Amino acid sequence: MALAIERNQHTMLGHRQNFIGRSVSYNTAAWDYRGRTWAVERPADGEPARRCTVTCSVCGERLTYNVHSLAATRRRRVRRWIAAAVFLVATVPVFGLIALDPSSPVVLSIGYGGGSLTFVTSWGLALSAGQERGLVGHGSIWPGYAKHKLFVRNTEDGRWV
Ligand SMILES: [Zn+2]
Repeated sequence: MALAIERNQHTMLGHRQNFIGRSVSYNTAAWDYRGRTWAVERPADGEPARRCTVTCSVCGERLTYNVHSLAATRRRRVRRWIAAAVFLVATVPVFGLIALDPSSPVVLSIGYGGGSLTFVTSWGLALSAGQERGLVGHGSIWPGYAKHKLFVRNTEDGRWV
């Protein structure tokens, strides 16, 4: 399910509380975030992105983000899904190079290395497409546990995601 994006949306700038993941179960770790919330008003469709500066309530750092309109956010999400699909499709012929000459170390290196690289790139793009909120800056669109992370309130269940 895609993340719900709204024109006026409650957003939280979170500051990571633990450097090393807190153990949740035997093979799962969690990172806790604490921060302040504010209401983001996106520009109307067709208008350029707006810059928004927020001060972290934990460390006092001032962070600037580009806030995109709903239409621009959807386009960014679609472009990233398309790029993920292209890289995923490209994985097959790159791995297929191995069939040309399986005894050549150069072909094996290109096949396995290139195939792995295109697959991992596709995976990263798909994860970032799912994280696309139209609030761009400081690595906010990439999966992971950065020092500062943006969360939006999911209107369906009220969770911060
Ligand atoms: Zn901070």
